[in-house]
Amino acid sequence: MLERHLESSQGLADEQYGFRKGRSTEDAISALESTANAALGKYELCVAVSLDIRNSFNSIGWDHIKTALQKCDVPEYLLQTFQAYFKERSATLAHSHSATGQLEINITCGVPQGSVVGPTLWNVAYDRVLRAQCPESTKIIGFADDTLVMAFGKTTEDVERRINEALEVVAEEISILGLSLATEKSEAVFFKRQYKKRKPTIRLNGADVPITKTMRYLGLTIDEKLKFREHIKEAAKKGQRVLTSLKRLMPDIGGPTEPRRRLLVSVVQSVMLYGAPIWATSLEYSKVIRRELLKVQRQAVLRSICGYRTISYDTTYILASTPPIDLIAMERRKLFQIRRGLTRKTVQEAKGDTMVEWLQRTEDAKKGEWTRTLIHDVRGWVMRKHGSMDFHLTQVLSGHGCFSYYTHRIGKKEEPNCRHCPSTLDNAHHTLVECRAWAAEREELEAEIGQLNIGSLIGKMLSNTQAWEAVSAFAKRTMKQKEALERAQQLEERNMTN
Ligand SMILES: [Zn+2]
Repeated sequence: MLERHLESSQGLADEQYGFRKGRSTEDAISALESTANAALGKYELCVAVSLDIRNSFNSIGWDHIKTALQKCDVPEYLLQTFQAYFKERSATLAHSHSATGQLEINITCGVPQGSVVGPTLWNVAYDRVLRAQCPESTKIIGFADDTLVMAFGKTTEDVERRINEALEVVAEEISILGLSLATEKSEAVFFKRQYKKRKPTIRLNGADVPITKTMRYLGLTIDEKLKFREHIKEAAKKGQRVLTSLKRLMPDIGGPTEPRRRLLVSVVQSVMLYGAPIWATSLEYSKVIRRELLKVQRQAVLRSICGYRTISYDTTYILASTPPIDLIAMERRKLFQIRRGLTRKTVQEAKGDTMVEWLQRTEDAKKGEWTRTLIHDVRGWVMRKHGSMDFHLTQVLSGHGCFSYYTHRIGKKEEPNCRHCPSTLDNAHHTLVECRAWAAEREELEAEIGQLNIGSLIGKMLSNTQAWEAVSAFAKRTMKQKEALERAQQLEERNMTN
């Protein structure tokens, strides 16, 4: 109710991004990024200083909240409700000196934490800080108690003067609210395109704020060049850590079903994609940085289809129907812009772009010829509504697995010949259509899907669930027998050499 009143009566400053409908941390970071980039675009210099408020939510005075509520014309009945709410919040402490052995203490400050109304009340009281009368060419960005002050200008002197004036005003407003700044926790970044520019000297409450190359802001690492390289590297590391610990919970083969394994992909991806609307474009310029994310994503995706590590990146993405993470990041950026009305693109167009780009990469790919022979309609394959992958089906569709041609290629078998028939070459194609050993299995499969043909196999699998399951069952039965014989023969060889 209060929120609705505040949003409709222009109650809160535009600069407040926290705990408001339709706004997120990404909006706040985006405001920082666009302000800095706009300045750099005009060959100006820009500085951003983050402020840390000590024990913020617990130390804001209730009197300040009340005054602020009255100021934005909150109806009387709402005020009364809050008043009652504040009064009830008293704590009872044991006290040996009083008659009852107890002493009642009224808590007179602190926004009730964990309550629905808490953050909104903070926003109301803190609003005056965000509306502080700062000099021109400065900007304040608030996310709840996270406060960022920015200044820009042609010269270091301009920036220095403006930022210090703005900080003084903001610090004053904060102290009026009875809050205190942890100046030692403040961080500053100086954005510039030209080198050899003197850094501004930044003062906050009489202390120097050091300028560093990077700064943490709302979970993102902001760097002085706004290239987000450091951030993306850290995101990849974090993704790897999450992946490693999740992998430990999930056994490799024959473990969870594909939908559950896919959960791992989505968790790892979402860890890495935080803030993607802001940094996605950076991936276009750096292959090295892109690779860091792709490396981690591929491991997760490979796990979701139980594929061998030798399967190429492009093939892995197709088999798992998951686009490469840099394309997902770009799509996130477009969707963010659509939601904020910054582009005329539609959601469908944004998703269409991803598909077009992905298909292009697939066409350009040099590896994974066998998979591409099978799956020529990549779009139909990734958009399908049924059919999951498992260890055996992935082997047949990738050609990487228990096939002599493959084990020979990776140096684990001397000859590429088939263990089950006189053929001199055993690969996925041989297993599917040629090998005599699987005549019975093939007959069963053909009874379900008709004449077995490499060119139309995937089309049939996509057309109905029964066909998919029949192929999957064929893969399971044949590959299991191949694995068993391989193990037996390897054991025999080992015994003979010993
Ligand atoms: Zn054979």
